[in-house]
Amino acid sequence: MKKMIQVVGLACAMLFSAGMAQADAQHPKIGFSIDDLRVERWTRDRDYFTQAAEQLGAKVYVQSADASEQRQIAQIENLISRGVDVLVIVPYNATVLNNAIREAKKAKIKVVSYDRLILGADIDAYISFDNKAVGEMQAQSLVQARPKGNYYLLGGAPTDNNAKILREGQLAVLQPLIDKGDIKVVGKQWVKDWSASEAMSIVENALTANGNKIDAVVASNDGTAGGAVQALAAQKLAGKVVVSGQDADLAAVRRVIAGTQTMTVYKPLKQIASSAAKLAVQLVRGEKPTYNSQLDNGFKKVDSLLLKPILLNKSNVDVLVKDGFYTQAQLAGK
Ligand code: BGC
Repeated sequence: MKKMIQVVGLACAMLFSAGMAQADAQHPKIGFSIDDLRVERWTRDRDYFTQAAEQLGAKVYVQSADASEQRQIAQIENLISRGVDVLVIVPYNATVLNNAIREAKKAKIKVVSYDRLILGADIDAYISFDNKAVGEMQAQSLVQARPKGNYYLLGGAPTDNNAKILREGQLAVLQPLIDKGDIKVVGKQWVKDWSASEAMSIVENALTANGNKIDAVVASNDGTAGGAVQALAAQKLAGKVVVSGQDADLAAVRRVIAGTQTMTVYKPLKQIASSAAKLAVQLVRGEKPTYNSQLDNGFKKVDSLLLKPILLNKSNVDVLVKDGFYTQAQLAGK
């Protein structure tokens, strides 16, 4: 009899926990840990992501680390103790989240790396744009405009794995021309935290060091491109020196229209955010998400979904209006 009660009790407990698990899966709790919401693009990622996740029945808890690795670790730990089912992380520093992720895995929480790859940790999935292609587009556009001359390589944040992949893409285009002697790299520097003001002072110094003889600045995103263009403008060189970027930030698109920035790269953020929301929910529900590549993060080959970036220059900025990213009035500065 006692045994029977025990068995019935166990069965009830199992049913109860299965029911709970199912309820959770229908309404997953997602922790979205973002490096820095002070940067324009990430607020859009947050909004699109939250909207898509809520449509799938999930609840999203958003945290911004404001470019502090300690704050990001503390916020992730807090999300873990709040009992989220899945963590979606835009890492500030790719290499310091190991312990926090180990904690998450212990608590059976899935981990998705968003836009930037987390290195050396046991993550479940990675979603991003094809960053090597972004780097190639940046260099290709500059080379088309200035096939020969002095190039300055303005890299992204050294803590961001994307910065390295972008550089790989840029060099895939530039190296043959460097080897040929057409292009001379007159300097290079990574920009801490992708800071626009730091980018500005780096380019100011580069201009001084080279007697203003710089023909192209390979800037890795629009924020740093903005800093570069400010430094160039102070020397009356804005529009003369070609400058790359990425993100289709509003100010950058206006610079592209005005001719002071050569190009930017449009990464449809709605696409990455909604695909990531779907992927996160699928992982919680035990479904199989769609991937199109695998990236080695030093711990394992991570199932990855890499989306296609779109090159933008003066001739096709209207893509942004067609896609609902901006209105015509916004582009015109009204
Ligand atoms: C992203 C860029 C962004 C940069 C700075 C990179 O990891 O891919 O879109 O401009 O971080 O936030």
